Amino acid sequence: MKIILLGAPGSGKGTLAKKISRDFEIPQISTGDLFRACVKAENELGKKVKSIMESGALVPDEVTIEIVKERLQQPDCKKGFILDGFPRTVNQAKALEKISQIDSVILVDLANEIIVERLSSRRTCPNCGEIYSVEDNPEGKCKKCNSKLIQRDDDKPETILHRLEVYERNTSPLINFYSERLFKVSSSGTPEQTYQPVKAFLEKLEAKA
Ligand code: ADP
Ligand code: ZN
Repeated sequence: MKIILLGAPGSGKGTLAKKISRDFEIPQISTGDLFRACVKAENELGKKVKSIMESGALVPDEVTIEIVKERLQQPDCKKGFILDGFPRTVNQAKALEKISQIDSVILVDLANEIIVERLSSRRTCPNCGEIYSVEDNPEGKCKKCNSKLIQRDDDKPETILHRLEVYERNTSPLINFYSERLFKVSSSGTPEQTYQPVKAFLEKLEAKA
């Protein structure tokens, strides 16, 4: 099963992707995570994308398409995958058409006011990538690996607004691009409430294949 998750930053894509990945046994491919790993490793690509990411802008399409193309060639992607954070531009979507055939696109829908609230309180484990909010995890320690949680630089208020603008301008046109393959879900409830209709939808899709 080859799936794309579409939605604004902070809409809950990553959380949903983890649940799908677990239940349907397909890898979650987050371009944000791939780039953050490069920054952490301080490799050539990491040096190139660090300041771009901190500003909330998009990494150039050529670079992004290349990293995804390489990732999708790994053996664990044979059975399928979930793309989380890619494509983010129509150009990327067109390039993806040439790399792989996508079964379904899930649009995670959430009002901007709630997004800003959620992102401001989001805390991330720098070690394993798990996501928490300050409210659920006031101690600031990862429940999986005990690392000290951090606030990502691009989750600071000034950057959040910029990222939402970038989404409106560059990524929301993809909703039209994929209109025929789109399954829309609201993420205004709990992560589990968001997941249930998606799970039912994917089970049907899987049964058909
Ligand atoms: P979020 O979805 O919370 O905005 P991500 O972790 O997906 O965060 O992405 C963080 C940053 O990584 C983006 O703001 C951007 O700079 C870069 N990035 C991730 N995916 C892409 C992409 N498909 N195209 C261009 N840049 C990307
Ligand atoms: Zn952790």
